[in-house]
Amino acid sequence: MSETIFSLIINREIPANILYEDDLSLVFSDINAQAPVHFLVIPKKPIPKLSDATEDDQALLGHLLLVANKVAAEQGLTDFRLNVNNGAGASQTVFHLHIHVLGGRPFSWPPG
Ligand code: IMP
Repeated sequence: MSETIFSLIINREIPANILYEDDLSLVFSDINAQAPVHFLVIPKKPIPKLSDATEDDQALLGHLLLVANKVAAEQGLTDFRLNVNNGAGASQTVFHLHIHVLGGRPFSWPPG
């Protein structure tokens, strides 16, 4: 897989506002926030997009959701939205799996 900007953040080659890190995951603020709180939860493993994940990634995917919960709570969020864009047609622009976590404002449904 080719390197993405998120690999550079994992490797500390470019700066980011890092909110949480463990052996499997990294969480940092989105540079173009779409809500008062907007952060990204990424695996350190470079899975390009959700549909590239396999059975081997089951525990990792669950871990990412629990990390999202943990950081959302740390950010004072009770209601929040998770979003995963899978593929260019779904507005994915960075091909390193990431979960958007947004909060701090109301959200409508359906999303655009
Ligand atoms: P996507 O459209 O779902 O792929 O989301 C990619 C997200 O990465 C966008 O919300 C961008 O604002 C965000 N992003 C891109 N580059 C950076 C960066 O260097 N730091 C933090 N967020 C970034």
